[in-house]
Amino acid sequence: MKKQYLLLLVFAGLFAIFNSCQKGAAYKALVVTGQNNHNWKASSPVLKELLEQTGLFTAEIIKTPEKGGDMKTFDPDFAKYNLVVIDYNGESWTEKTKVAFVEYVKNGGGVVIYHAGNNSFPEWKEFNLITGLGGWGNRSAKDGPYVYYRKDSMVIDTSAGRGGSHAKRHEYEVRMRNTEHPITKGLPVRWRHGNDELYSQLRGPAQNMEILATAYADTAGGGTGRSEPMLMTITYGKGKIFHTALGHADNGGGPAMECVGFIATFQRGAEWAVTGKVTQKIPYDFPNAAAVSLRTGFVELTLEDDLAKIATYDITKSTKYFTDLQSRIRKEAKTPQDLQKFEILMIKLLESKEATDDAKKLIIGELSWMGSDLCVPIIKELSKNEQLKDAADFALARLQQTK
Ligand code: ZN
Repeated sequence: MKKQYLLLLVFAGLFAIFNSCQKGAAYKALVVTGQNNHNWKASSPVLKELLEQTGLFTAEIIKTPEKGGDMKTFDPDFAKYNLVVIDYNGESWTEKTKVAFVEYVKNGGGVVIYHAGNNSFPEWKEFNLITGLGGWGNRSAKDGPYVYYRKDSMVIDTSAGRGGSHAKRHEYEVRMRNTEHPITKGLPVRWRHGNDELYSQLRGPAQNMEILATAYADTAGGGTGRSEPMLMTITYGKGKIFHTALGHADNGGGPAMECVGFIATFQRGAEWAVTGKVTQKIPYDFPNAAAVSLRTGFVELTLEDDLAKIATYDITKSTKYFTDLQSRIRKEAKTPQDLQKFEILMIKLLESKEATDDAKKLIIGELSWMGSDLCVPIIKELSKNEQLKDAADFALARLQQTK
């Protein structure tokens, strides 16, 4: 009893430290979103979470009106923030908002341009000076040179051609071009990035811009055969901008955002954009050239969250929560008692009327190797359901065998 009490005190202490860290976050960040050809509803909470994980930021999300809405209602007070993250690719802002954003950067405000953020506003000159390079939106030679790396040098190609392309999504190697910059210092020179689009043929004014990292767009996969800029820094007035072309968002994030290489460079770039320095340690799970490293739990999920999401989620679209549940079981359940803790919650899901048959199938499959006698009655009951019969019969047979 005494021991438990002590443990409780330790936890309370840790919690207090954690809380005070949160309160002590030095900087305020604003994630701008609301329109994007990407899944901004999935990506913007992840970006907010990643900023807050550093302990340096408190972050808010601000949404523009939906397409066709009254843009006058989008009037953020940028000056209140230290960092603005652009997760936006949509309709033009009002002149007033544009001026406020440019003033914010000129006066030293930090900016992170994230993935399709660089597709925005092809017509807005100042924005393109801030992003350095952009893609799509009918960009062509008129918008600036195509900038890439050939061998070890940067090429500024002013010849005609499109702006913005990418081959089919794949895993690829990111190669550092400056290992002395605060954002990249100490990171591996080459590392493997999670399945993502490899943005290519980006064009723009490219002024006051430095390329920190490139990725080779292999012609074998339909790429340009050039090393395309992936991580960049730009200065505009007193403002510092970190531009990451990485991180295409799927439902719930996906491997491009879950890649520790994306996560850590985003977090380091955000800090640098505000202070010009990086104090964050390099995470132990940063990828190397041999293997991708994904953090599927980058948004800290609870077991209850997982089960609630699994119950009603369209499993055919994403198995993220189920995958998280599986890794939890494998990581956390060391004893039969631990397994039963999971089993009891999983039985509740099987008993629930709201849970979909797809969800129940997955849970029955998982219980077939880890369940005990406890789950047998409900699985027997579910075997009467035509949709679940096969899964249930299989599980019952397997559970019988393992006894
Ligand atoms: Zn994309």
